[in-house]
Amino acid sequence: MGYIGDTIAEIKEELAPFNATLIAVTKTYPAETVREAYDAGHKVFGENKVQEMQAKQPLLPEDVQWHLIGHLQTNKVKYAAPFVSMIHSVDSIRLLAEINKQALKNNRIIPCLLQIHIAEEETKFGLSASEATELLLDENYRKMTHIRIEGVMGMATFTEDQNQIRKEFRSLRLMFDELRKHADAGSEGFRHISMGMSGDYKIALEEGSTLVRIGSRIFGSRN
Ligand SMILES: *Cc1c(COP(=O)(O)O)cnc(C)c1O
Repeated sequence: MGYIGDTIAEIKEELAPFNATLIAVTKTYPAETVREAYDAGHKVFGENKVQEMQAKQPLLPEDVQWHLIGHLQTNKVKYAAPFVSMIHSVDSIRLLAEINKQALKNNRIIPCLLQIHIAEEETKFGLSASEATELLLDENYRKMTHIRIEGVMGMATFTEDQNQIRKEFRSLRLMFDELRKHADAGSEGFRHISMGMSGDYKIALEEGSTLVRIGSRIFGSRN
């Protein structure tokens, strides 16, 4: 099947006992590389930049599911809204309002995740637990008809320290359990924990991840 297909198959075997879904992260790789994964039977891809996702989307079949996993600026939402399958990086009510507005224009409901800050590093985006709770209790959110918040996303600190990573993923899992109580979608709709990348997805699975975002392990290192 080739290296990409074989690696995807291998990862899917690892995910199966955990019932988790693989998002193959294709940022920086050309559409031909995405196509190779598609031809091997994979259809769920992640991009961290709207423009790059938008450029690749028409080059691939319609049934590809595109997940936006990187920071999203309000003025770029309109480019993703016509086709994006899920936005993992919601970090403000203002951004959520814009996603709702653009989803309405496109006559779609867009599934979203709240990005939570769990890492020690200050550079990573995301809400604190209390900010996320506040957002879920915000009356304006309750009025939004064209988005659905389906869970949380987080990135662990970039470190060799496995215990640190595990601690951070565990904290995201606990926040998920708490936030779920406030979720409009109800406990069934609020069901995703997007955590785990090439270097740490095994720990993330053990800590309850439902969506892993894996790039370099499948496609090779980006420079
Ligand atoms: C790039 C990226 C990934 C994948 O990282 P790898 O280490 O290549 O697996 C996952 N999540 C986000 C938000 C990313 O930007």
